[in-house]
Amino acid sequence: MLVHPSRVRSLSPNAPGQGPVVYWMRRDQRAADNWALLHAAELARRAGAPLLVLFALDPTAPGASARQIDFLLRGLAETEMDLRDHNIPLILALGDPAAVVPPFLRQVGAGTCVVDFDPQHVALRAAAAVAAAFAGALVEVDAHNVVPCFFASPRREYTAATFRPKIHKLLAEFLEPFPDLPAFSAANLDGFAPVAFPAAAAVNTETLGWPVADVLPGATAATRTLAAFVGERLNAYAEHRNDPNAGAVSTLSPYFHGGQLAPQRAALAALAAKSHAPAGADAFLEELIVRRELCDNYCYYTPDYDQFSALPDWAKKTLAAHADDTRPYCYAPADFEAAATHSALWNAAQRQLVRTGRLHGYMRMYWAKKILEWSASPQAAIAIGLEQNDRYALDGNDPNGVVGVLWSVGGLHDRPWANRAIFGQVRYMNERGCRRKFDVDAYIARYR
Ligand SMILES: Cc1cc2nc3c(=O)[nH]c(=O)nc-3n(C[C@H](O)[C@H](O)[C@H](O)COP(=O)(O)OP(=O)(O)OC[C@H]3O[C@@H](n4cnc5c(N)ncnc54)[C@H](O)[C@@H]3O)c2cc1C
Repeated sequence: MLVHPSRVRSLSPNAPGQGPVVYWMRRDQRAADNWALLHAAELARRAGAPLLVLFALDPTAPGASARQIDFLLRGLAETEMDLRDHNIPLILALGDPAAVVPPFLRQVGAGTCVVDFDPQHVALRAAAAVAAAFAGALVEVDAHNVVPCFFASPRREYTAATFRPKIHKLLAEFLEPFPDLPAFSAANLDGFAPVAFPAAAAVNTETLGWPVADVLPGATAATRTLAAFVGERLNAYAEHRNDPNAGAVSTLSPYFHGGQLAPQRAALAALAAKSHAPAGADAFLEELIVRRELCDNYCYYTPDYDQFSALPDWAKKTLAAHADDTRPYCYAPADFEAAATHSALWNAAQRQLVRTGRLHGYMRMYWAKKILEWSASPQAAIAIGLEQNDRYALDGNDPNGVVGVLWSVGGLHDRPWANRAIFGQVRYMNERGCRRKFDVDAYIARYR
């Protein structure tokens, strides 16, 4: 077996039928280092069947902003070329996957459909709809996590401390090198012309956030970014990753979010560099594997994952006890969006997010905690934080964003701290703390 059997599970009781194997690509939009594609290729090879890759893009899906669709489409164009090099066609279908995938599978007479794992609401609903409508076998492969989410733990983990030992125990088994994607015969492309990729503006007419020009999408740009990080900055990561002016972080999250780079590839690269940057490699692997995969664990096991109701009991209680505390400042969503608060530091963070499609990880925490402090309620703060993050961040609409906002606003995966106004026992951050960590004025000057 090419792919570890614990990465793979059936989503329908149906046996595989005759006919092509279709890989329904969703979250892992790359040709290389993709366990779902490798599994589909293996099934096709064993059955002597064609292999097709389908991508269904729903421009009306919640959070489908123009800048994210632009990044996705340009990355997918490169993926299509990589697939064609292996004589594997990519088909682009526009529309709600629940509506467009089943007719496609019927039209090509597919016997098996392989889909990559995604724990978010829209993806879970779409997979359930396809499972109900498709007569062949629907098989899911976790190609996004180093340790498959549904295998790593059978329950929602309380904190990173409870999740870490489970992951570390399984790393030797799952952090393995990737095999190459096999090439198919040229006949596998028959009847499938190259995709005429539409421009993002033609797909998303609501133009929620304009495209970001200075972050190159695609697998090649992702691989270069990884090589530069591991070669030049991994050493600095351990000490300087919380300084937004230091340029010490990897900046890889848009590529992981868009599936243009496998986190497992980045983990292998960091491990290989461990001898020259031991502390940096360890710190990076903790964020990349334990912290990132904890976010998938949370969303997968928490049906109301983006709501106040999903917070730990201690946090709900303490925030409720402080619901009527006087807010020294209380802003409407439009004030936050326009970076029109009284705080030059907060406004600079919002401008970084809106202008560049990125926000440094340390500033993200400060940014979201101040939204809690300056909003009418924690429920409103969660909604505003998620809406702004998902609209403007290139890596938005991701389990990491859900957890980041709920960690900041509602103590998710955290512990109670000293009691104070508005926050109750949720961990507090302020500008004075930022000034102790980095040159706040230099940061403000960059995003004036
Ligand atoms: C309010 C808030 C919102 C966030 N929204 C998002 C989001 O929409 N998408 C997103 O990918 N991340 C989000 N994060 C998590 C984290 O801030 C980003 O992953 C990180 O800043 C991305 O930059 P980087 O790739 O340079 O990270 P690096 O520091 O280089 O880390 C490498 C990788 O590890 C993972 N990682 C790092 N920090 C975290 C973390 N705290 N939790 C989970 N995984 C982590 C990411 O995949 C990241 O790309 C959010 C955090 C907060 C507090």
